[in-house]
Amino acid sequence: MFGTILIANRGEIAQRIIRTAARLGVRTVAVVSEADRGAPYTRIATETVEIGPGPAAASYLAGDKIIAAAKAARAEAIHPGYGFLAENAQFAEAALRAGLVFIGPSPRAMRRMGGKAEAKAIAAAAGVPVVAGYAGETQDARTLAREAKRIGYPVLIKAVAGGGGRGMRLVEREEELAAALTSARREAEAAFGDGRVLLEKLIANPRHIEVQVFGDRHGNVLSLFERDCSLQRRNQKVIEEAPAPGMPPELRARLCGAAVACAKAVEYEGAGTVEFLVEGDTLSPESAWYFIEMNTRLQVEHPVTEAITGLDLVEWQLRVAAGEPLPRQQAEIAIAGHAIEARLCAEDPANGFLPSTGPIVRFDLPSGEGIRVDRGVEQGSVISPYYDSMIAKLIASGPDRATAIARLAHALKTSLVAGPRTNAAFLNALLAHPAFASGRMDTGLIGREGTRLTAVAPNPEAIAYGVTEMLWRAHHNLTAQRTGEPSRGDGFSPWNACDGFELGGPRRQALTVLADGVPTEVDVEWGRGRGPLVQLRDRGGMHQAGNAILVANDVRGTMHLAGDWNPLYVLHDMRQTELRWPTYEAEAVDAAGNGDGIRAPIVGRVAKLFVAVGAAVAKGDPIAVVEAMKMEHVLHAPRDGVVANVAVAEGQQVEQDALIAALAKPGNVADSSKEARLT
Ligand code: ADP
Ligand code: ADP
Ligand code: MG
Repeated sequence: MFGTILIANRGEIAQRIIRTAARLGVRTVAVVSEADRGAPYTRIATETVEIGPGPAAASYLAGDKIIAAAKAARAEAIHPGYGFLAENAQFAEAALRAGLVFIGPSPRAMRRMGGKAEAKAIAAAAGVPVVAGYAGETQDARTLAREAKRIGYPVLIKAVAGGGGRGMRLVEREEELAAALTSARREAEAAFGDGRVLLEKLIANPRHIEVQVFGDRHGNVLSLFERDCSLQRRNQKVIEEAPAPGMPPELRARLCGAAVACAKAVEYEGAGTVEFLVEGDTLSPESAWYFIEMNTRLQVEHPVTEAITGLDLVEWQLRVAAGEPLPRQQAEIAIAGHAIEARLCAEDPANGFLPSTGPIVRFDLPSGEGIRVDRGVEQGSVISPYYDSMIAKLIASGPDRATAIARLAHALKTSLVAGPRTNAAFLNALLAHPAFASGRMDTGLIGREGTRLTAVAPNPEAIAYGVTEMLWRAHHNLTAQRTGEPSRGDGFSPWNACDGFELGGPRRQALTVLADGVPTEVDVEWGRGRGPLVQLRDRGGMHQAGNAILVANDVRGTMHLAGDWNPLYVLHDMRQTELRWPTYEAEAVDAAGNGDGIRAPIVGRVAKLFVAVGAAVAKGDPIAVVEAMKMEHVLHAPRDGVVANVAVAEGQQVEQDALIAALAKPGNVADSSKEARLT
C-alpha cells in the first residue's frame, strides 16, 4: 500500500477519499484553491497545498501544479476523484512520467473509452448493442445533416468528449439542427476543449441503468451490479439507487456481462462504470438495451453500490493501483438491501434551478440509522461560483426500497440549510412521486412534470414570523444600545424597556419587507407590554412575538430561524424564505438613463455576448450567456428595443445582479442609437 497519496480534487469527494486513506494508514496531501481555503477536507488531510486562484483552470485543472505539489510532498500516487482531471489521459500520462501512480485505469484505456465515439465502436466489437447513430470523424454541417436525416429525427447531439450532460442537444426537426450544433459545439469546446460531436437516435423515455465494474493488473474484471439513475434533469443525475427496482435476474446478468466484456476489451484497471439505456419504464427479461458510454473513474453515485455490497470502493481503488489483486471474487459479492442517493445542490428549483451562491448561514444535516452523509461544506463555508453546485450527498439504505425511501425523505425533511437555496424540497417531491414510489420511472419523468415538482406555495406565516423576529431583534438591539445592556442574552425583555415607545398606547405601522426579493406589505401593531403583532396585508399570515403565538396551522413548530436579522432566513418545509429590509439602490440604476437593464442572474463569467451597442433586438432575443457552476444561462431581451449600453466584455467575471446590457427607454430610441454611433 502507498505511504502518501495526493488528492487532486475538492469538496465531498476529497473528504471521502481522505477518510478511506486515513483508515488504511495512508497519509494524504490535499490541494486547495484560494476560493476553497479552509474547506473541511483540508482539515482532515495530513497536509494541504494551496495551488492557485478560484477558477478551476488555474487550480484543480492545473495538472502541472498538481504534479509538482505531489512531488514536493513526496506522494507516491494521485487520486483524481471525479470531474476535473479524472478522465484526462494526458494528465495521467504526465503523472506516470513524473514517477507517480495514477489511481485509475491506464492512459491507454482512458483514451480509448474516454471518447464516446471510439467507446461505442469498442462495445459493438465486443458484441454489446449500441444506440444507432453517427460517430464519424467527418464533422462538417452537411455530413451531419445528412446523417441526422438517415438516423431519423428526433436525434441527440452529443459531445464526443462529453460528461455530466454537457454538450448534449435534442433536435426534433431538421430546421433546428444548425443552431443546436453551434451551441452544442460551443459548450463542448468550453467544457472539454473539444468541439467534436456525434449523433444518436433518441431512445424515448428509457431507464438509465449502469454497471459498476472493477479490474486489476492481473487480468481480473468483475462487476458490482447495477445502479438505476433514471431520475435525471437535463440528462444529469438527480437521484440514484441500487439495485434497480424490478430488475429481472436475466437482464442483470446480461448487463453485467456486457459491462465486464467492455472493460476486458480495454484491459481495464480500477473502478469504472458502463452506462446503458433500457427501453421502457419497466424492466423485463425481454427489454431492449444499449451501451451509451463508459466512465473511466469513480462515479458520484458510488455510495449506493457500497451500501448494498458492503465494500469500500476507494479502498479497492487504492489496492488495485498499488498492484494488489481484486480483494474478492465475483461469487463472493452479493446484493444486500437497497440504497438511494440524493444530490443536495445549492440551486433554486423554483427559479429555473439557478445555482445559488454565497455564505452558508446554517448547515445541519441529519444522521441516523441507514443514513450516510457525504458533505463538502459546513456552516460558514461560502459557495463560490467556480465549481459544481453539489454540496452534499444524502445516502439512505435499508433492508428494502420502501425503507430506504422513507429514511431519505426523513433526512431531507430534517436537513436545515440557510443562505444559498437548495433542491431539498424538489428531491423530496421526487421521492413522493407515484412513478418513483412504484419503481416505474424513466429519464423523462422530471421533464414531463415541469413546474409541478418545483412550485413553491407562498408561506405567509413564515413571512409574518420572520418579520416579527426581525422587529423584535432590531428593537431589542436599539434598546440595548440606549441602556448599555449587552445586545443579546438570556431573559431579556425589550418590551419593558423605558424608551417611551409605548407611551401613546398601541401604535400601527405599515412596513414593506422583501420576502425572497418580493416587496411585501405588512401591518405591525405595537401594543403595551407585548411584542409586535405582524400581519401580512391581504395575505392571511399573522404572528406575534413573545409567547402569544398566533400562527395558523401551527406551522411554527416546523419553522426554524437562521441568520442574524437582516437578512433573516425562515426555514420551513425544506425551503427558506429570505427576509430583508429594502434598500433603494435599484433606483440609481434607472437614473443612469437606461430603460431595462439586463442583469447577471448569478455570479459567473460572461461566456458570450450576442449584441453590441445600437443593435435592435426583439423580445426573447439572446443578449448574453453567463456561465456559472458548469451551467450556461442565456439572458434574453425582455422586450423589443435598441441596446443602449453593454456594460461587460466577453470573458469578464461578473457579480450577481451586475448590469450586462441595457435597452434604451422606448422614447429614447433615436437618441441613444445616435449616441451609440458616436461612441
Ligand atoms: P456521469 O458520470 O454519468 O457523467 P456524474 O454526475 O457522475 O455523471 O458526473 C458528471 C460529470 O461531472 C463528470 O465528469 C463528473 O466527474 C463531474 N462532476 C459531477 N459532480 C461533480 C462535482 N460535485 N464536482 C466536480 N465534478 C463533478
Ligand atoms: P454524459 O457523458 O453527459 O453522461 P451520456 O451519453 O451518458 O452522457 O448520456 C447522459 C444521459 O442522456 C443518459 O443518462 C440519458 O438520460 C440521456 N441520453 C443519452 N443518450 C441518449 C439517447 N440516445 N436517447 C435518449 N436519451 C439519451
Ligand atoms: Mg453518462
